[in-house]
Amino acid sequence: MFAVETYAAVRRFAFIEGNSRRDAARVFGLSRDTVAKMCRSSAPPGYVRTKPPGRPKLGPLIPVIDAILESDKTAPVKQRHTAKCIFERLRDEHGFAGGYTVVKDYVRRARSHAQEMFLPLVHPPGHAQVDFGECIAVIGGVRMKLHVFCFDLPQSDACFIKAYAAETTEAFLDGHVSAFAFAETPALPRVLLGHHLRQLKLPTILREYKKVAAEASREGADHVRDLLRLVELELIDRQRWMVERRIRAARFSAIKSFDTFDFTAIPSLNKPLVLELARCEYVVARDNIIALGNRGTGKTHVCLALGLAACQRGLSVTFTTAAGLVHQLMEARDEKRLLRLQAQLAAVKLLIIDELGYVPLSQTGAELLFEVFSQRHERGSTIVTSNPPFDEWTSVFGNQRLTGALLDRLTHHLHILEMNGESYRLKQSRARRRKEPQPTAEQTIDPDTGEIAPT
Ligand code: ADP
Ligand code: MG
Repeated sequence: MFAVETYAAVRRFAFIEGNSRRDAARVFGLSRDTVAKMCRSSAPPGYVRTKPPGRPKLGPLIPVIDAILESDKTAPVKQRHTAKCIFERLRDEHGFAGGYTVVKDYVRRARSHAQEMFLPLVHPPGHAQVDFGECIAVIGGVRMKLHVFCFDLPQSDACFIKAYAAETTEAFLDGHVSAFAFAETPALPRVLLGHHLRQLKLPTILREYKKVAAEASREGADHVRDLLRLVELELIDRQRWMVERRIRAARFSAIKSFDTFDFTAIPSLNKPLVLELARCEYVVARDNIIALGNRGTGKTHVCLALGLAACQRGLSVTFTTAAGLVHQLMEARDEKRLLRLQAQLAAVKLLIIDELGYVPLSQTGAELLFEVFSQRHERGSTIVTSNPPFDEWTSVFGNQRLTGALLDRLTHHLHILEMNGESYRLKQSRARRRKEPQPTAEQTIDPDTGEIAPT
């Protein structure tokens, strides 16, 4: 094995000092193949297999496994094969004499190759991104490499490019100056206007505005900028309505945001994780969140704020308490509209279930709630807040098997927010009381709310 320094020295000798690879091999006492490898990559690539590992027993049966996995793609979810089923079929139907692990490893790798993930990349209007790219240009008959500064408005795909001899800070700054100057020219408003009108689904204005603008410009006026401004206002308004609609539909118990949340009051809470979650990428990835902790530590506040952040990004949200949800499900079952409610709960992008475990659930209630988790599994994100820790959930659901299955669904891709600490309100009222006269003997303090009540 060669150290990274040897790689660097050989590459400097060949690329910067301009020596041949043959000389490099001689000077460093290496074989020509080794020098060629060092010129290919800047760091030792580690051990690289030249051939895939041999699988003497499984090899001939790989086409059988591939055929099973292929037919699974169209089979109903419950009828698809687990790795264990495939192993049993290979053993019973094809006389496979190998072990389960080789089958499991192959199936896992084949499935992960088959499942491509797509994450939508969303850019708000007005956001730009820049980067350098390279191109080969022929200027005055001379072939040369140029570095291209690219400035792009991803939402509308309008872009500006300028080529430089090198990727320097000066080029980076000059590129920005030129891009903003370009934004002031008449061309950009027309590009943006076209994209916005398409997004707003206003095809008639899109078709006609150039004609109308041409007439206006004959009269010496440029109305495209005014029209762009109007269309931008329409876009902003529509986005605001959409967010308001999402917030109304979510049925939050209160509107709370992270602006009013004091992270220093709850040191057990992982603030960077919460702020990362507030970007809502976990909703796209369909991860779940559980906030665990005693009463009054801000669990509801945090999940209301996460719900609000999701609405602001245009995601559908439903907020409910566990008891309220069970009640709704039972009512829907009695009125024979359970399937519709279940479909609605399964479709929402983020379901927030507050206060799981405050009240023990009946057998039917627990089963209905389990069904909700089960139907949402890998289809949408669920946030749960709970007072009792996981190991006490069995008494909430009254059934160990059901609790196990539920935890299995929920803990798949899970973020846990530890929120154990002193009740926020209690701490606040204690601080207040230090300034105010003490309560009389006839008054008592509610330990949860911190409120002073006469006895
Ligand atoms: P929990 O759901 O954990 O019982 P809540 O979220 O209902 O607690 O919090 C109780 C009250 O205290 C709410 O009004 C909430 O806004 C407030 N609160 C709790 N923790 C904080 C905090 N760290 N910063 C600001 N307000 C808080
Ligand atoms: Mg709460």
